Amino acid sequence: MTNRFSPVANMSVWAVLLMCVLWGEGVHSARAQSPSAAPDKVVVLTFDDSVKSHFTVVRPILKKYGFQATFFITEGFDFADNKTDYMTWEEIAKLHQDGFEIGNHTRDHLAVTAENLDRLEEQVRAINARCREHGVPQPVSFAYPGNRFVLEALPILKKLGIQFARRGGAPEYDYKTGGGSAYEPGFDHPLLIPTAGDARPDWSLDDFIKAVSMAELGSIAVLQFHGVPDRAHPWVHTAPEQFEAYMKYLAVNDYHVIAVRDLHKYIDAARPPRDPMGVIKDRQQALAKHRGRENFRRPADEKELRYWLENMVWRHGFSPAEIRQATGLSREEVGAALKRWDIRRETRPPRDENAPLLVLPYPGGRHPRIGFLEGAIRPQRETKFSVFPPWSSGEYFVVDVPEAIWVVIENKRNLLYLAHTHIPTLWDKKGASLEPLEWRRGAAGQLSIERVLPNKVAFGAKIRPGQDAVYMEMWLKNGSSHMLSGMRVQNCVMLKAAPEFAAATNENKILQPPYAACKSTDGRRWVITAWTNCQRAWAIRLARVCTATRNSPIARPEKRGGCEVGFPFMRVTISRRNCAASTPPAGATKAVSNCSIRETKQNTHGGKKLMIESNATLYARLGGYDAIAAVADNLISRLTADAQLGRFWRHRGDDGLQREKQLLIDFLCASAGGPLFYTGRDMSMTHRGMGISADDWRIFIGHVRATLEQFEVPATEKEEVIGFIETTKAEIVEE
Ligand SMILES: [Zn+2]
Repeated sequence: MTNRFSPVANMSVWAVLLMCVLWGEGVHSARAQSPSAAPDKVVVLTFDDSVKSHFTVVRPILKKYGFQATFFITEGFDFADNKTDYMTWEEIAKLHQDGFEIGNHTRDHLAVTAENLDRLEEQVRAINARCREHGVPQPVSFAYPGNRFVLEALPILKKLGIQFARRGGAPEYDYKTGGGSAYEPGFDHPLLIPTAGDARPDWSLDDFIKAVSMAELGSIAVLQFHGVPDRAHPWVHTAPEQFEAYMKYLAVNDYHVIAVRDLHKYIDAARPPRDPMGVIKDRQQALAKHRGRENFRRPADEKELRYWLENMVWRHGFSPAEIRQATGLSREEVGAALKRWDIRRETRPPRDENAPLLVLPYPGGRHPRIGFLEGAIRPQRETKFSVFPPWSSGEYFVVDVPEAIWVVIENKRNLLYLAHTHIPTLWDKKGASLEPLEWRRGAAGQLSIERVLPNKVAFGAKIRPGQDAVYMEMWLKNGSSHMLSGMRVQNCVMLKAAPEFAAATNENKILQPPYAACKSTDGRRWVITAWTNCQRAWAIRLARVCTATRNSPIARPEKRGGCEVGFPFMRVTISRRNCAASTPPAGATKAVSNCSIRETKQNTHGGKKLMIESNATLYARLGGYDAIAAVADNLISRLTADAQLGRFWRHRGDDGLQREKQLLIDFLCASAGGPLFYTGRDMSMTHRGMGISADDWRIFIGHVRATLEQFEVPATEKEEVIGFIETTKAEIVEE
């Protein structure tokens, strides 16, 4: 059975993000232990190949400046016999005693290639054994000899207790230049840490400065040196006076100089990138296209600059480095602007306790994800907004609406839109780029956005903050010449910035379409998302909850279709909170704030079930399911018997009527806040093309009134039911 709709029909998907504030007494959970973003000017010094001058020249200079460093030890070359050019193990042990890190560089300086893989373990263990003999702890850092690596080495190194492995500047940069990339924690695999600069004899101080100045905006510059001087390997030699000048530069300019092992502060070891080559490929693509990899949006004018600075500092708590990442402004520009308007954490205007939830566009810059960062190397900010819960000033949830849209066009599944980068979209494949957009900001905190894709398919989202819930509507219009089918939209809530919710587990989540919910560590608070037409709800261990909604085909414009007839006056509802209406009816707010949530064991499947219960719902006040079923029964009889409205049911069999009655019951229960949710189609889709007139509507409302009166429903409840039904009128009645 195919549904076809007129070209103006919207695929309208609704959702609500509920912030259930179940106040506990003095509940404060500890912030999750997470690595902090690296400040600017963090530099890692590494010295390869056990060169004698590491002990004689480098050691005293580093000690003078109080710098940390890692010495990568190999017994390769003529280490065994040539004690003029290579250190003794006693000297190596002394470096350890001085507080420097000793790393593993394989016994024979063996290149980590596919052919050599079976020898890697033995090579690493041999150096480990020598360390043990000389009272040096087992190395946790490794450097690839000759800077060559293969991905198959990663599990072997991990098994051997290696936590960090440094590579060279290749494959992004040619070995010859000694150039490289800054290490980007979260994007670069900790076993493939790139070298920012590999010192060469012809380097000037400017080359050195170029490498270390990459240590900003969360990136860390890892430097690679060989001998100072290096008589045995002249192609990687550094003159002592040159080295002294480099180190002086670091000291004078307040660089924080650490060893490789100290990177643990900036790395979430539990969440290495799934694709170790992800960021490497991204750099290669950027280099090939001569474009930058930054992802900032420069504010258009002073007014915008001020708006975004307030957003970033007061609400998202961004540091100046994060502001620079989001705006592309210089340190000086950011500093001056913050000063001009006195924007500091301390000058943040307080939020009124009774104000609606605060919803703001997400500024970008700081990555909203935990883990799998390489799946969203440059996340697009225009589909993202943050919801700030009432219980804290620092926490927020980032919602991506939509994160992705898939459709089938001419029997082919296409990724029509993706808010990030790791899968090529239809447009990427065609070489078309989508211009950056921004949320339109409404006066009452609403946000809206609309994007028209190159094939004239348009989609958008509208966000409206409510007291305890955020109402979201996504729509899609087909202006293309193709029938769109198999539509699937994925939306996500990212929990990273709300540590009480960000545990990497599914234990704190309930995934029961249409709900994807997550509870706080103390179990007293919930964030619940629910979407209409929800097909799937899932969680990603990396603190995201996602939902996918599915929709019926949308006809191409010239095919003005008829419409499958459903039961009139239905509307997709999301939860029992009456929140599907474009304006939540009176009482919805109350219902939410009085809600309680509990998990129950579902006997049949053994799974957990989410019960959202409220003592104050209209559902409860109407008398629950049985009462509503009786009301529906009564109403259907009136409608089918009506001289004017009866035409809608004339050709329906008993089965059809039964189904419609059940849908009506579900609809009424759901919209009155009952524990059922409506699984029928969207109101406007259901009724488009039926020719329901304003007069039909008037008669219908008359029957609703009569039914409610027959059941002696009290005036307040009666007006709530009618008030809610009236909100659906615009989508049902055709002019
Ligand atoms: Zn080496």
